[in-house]
Amino acid sequence: MKTLRLKPGKERSLQRRHPWIFESAIARGGADSGETVRVESHDGAFLAWAAFSPVSKIRARAWSFVETQRIDAAFLASVCARAVAARGLFDLQSDGVRLIHGEADGLPGLIVDRYGDTLVAQFLSAGVERWKAAIADALLEATGLHKLYERSDASGREREGLKPVTGWLRGEGATEITIREHGWKLSLDIATGHKTGFYLDQRDSRQRFAELAQHRRFRRVLNCFCYTGGFTVAALAGLQAAGAMDGAELVSVDSSQPALEKARANLALNGFGGEGSGVKAEFLDANVNNVLREFIEQGRTFDAIVLDPPKFAPTAAHADRAARAYKDINRLALKLLEPGGVLLTFSCSGGISADLFHKIVASAGMDAQVDGYISERLGAAPDHPMTIEFPEGEYLKGLVVVKKPA
Ligand code: SAH
Repeated sequence: MKTLRLKPGKERSLQRRHPWIFESAIARGGADSGETVRVESHDGAFLAWAAFSPVSKIRARAWSFVETQRIDAAFLASVCARAVAARGLFDLQSDGVRLIHGEADGLPGLIVDRYGDTLVAQFLSAGVERWKAAIADALLEATGLHKLYERSDASGREREGLKPVTGWLRGEGATEITIREHGWKLSLDIATGHKTGFYLDQRDSRQRFAELAQHRRFRRVLNCFCYTGGFTVAALAGLQAAGAMDGAELVSVDSSQPALEKARANLALNGFGGEGSGVKAEFLDANVNNVLREFIEQGRTFDAIVLDPPKFAPTAAHADRAARAYKDINRLALKLLEPGGVLLTFSCSGGISADLFHKIVASAGMDAQVDGYISERLGAAPDHPMTIEFPEGEYLKGLVVVKKPA
């Protein structure tokens, strides 16, 4: 058994069950990519079993803090089964579900989403890469499903010294899938979509947006960074429930043409926004920053705006530049809001804390000379859990800002 010996004082985070062992904490020891190592304190006390990753800054990720635990296929099968079973604890109202959320589920670097009867997995660390076959079998066993598609093409793989891999890992089937989320249908493509094909983490916020649309009967909605149109569909579902679709205008903006095509298709799939529906749905293939500026120049206003940008700050090191980018779009969006209008604004950057995000939005409000109420705080849906030991797990945060009436 290979061993990693830590430097004095570097045992503390593992003792708190934080699963990462940084290169800088290691005094000596090493192993092959993904190989299991025994991690010990400077004086030889057992700390964890971990998967070694020879090139990553996160040099090892803990599998278990129990000395008697054997790290083998049976162990991984039990961890997978536990994570899958835990999803039954949440009322998700969707057949698109995140089954394994990496570190939070004890499987560092593994993401698994279920879309109907198809599983999509991202193997993003040396440890889960090495155990891929065992994990794939365990996932099918735990879910009773037969199809598993691999989307290991995220940038995190490079940092682990791993090449991108995509394709069917078990079984085979259609890559275009329609899921049911709340009362509506959403089509996605697991082979060509972002990440595993869809942003399941925003499920509850989309539902909240539908409720707000129903309650407030929005007339003009701007969905920025719309991807495949989830928030637009949600708004229309809310307006339909209120009997207020007629005359509504919805602008959806993204810089990805394929995403916009899907967004259009998703409206049609739900019977929204077709000819004679009374709804005006616009799709703009453009940079959100430019669109916001143009709309201000044109004097356009909206009574609801969604800002759900990509990750501007992957780590805290990018926080400064990202903060400026977040502030900019929030300032522009606040200007475009009608008094009483609603802004749903998000950051999915791990490097921006909830507190910092609040401050960024506050200073955007100052610059825009807009006063607002923060009526709600939003976060990732519960199948993307955070754990007590792993604060990095909190990545997605959102605020509902209501512009004070004039
Ligand atoms: N709100 C979406 C997810 C948004 S993901 C949902 O509920 O599914 C972020 C999106 O921003 C991606 O679709 C990406 O194509 C788009 N994007 C990134 N930078 C952009 C920019 N500068 N202008 C417009 N869209 C951008």
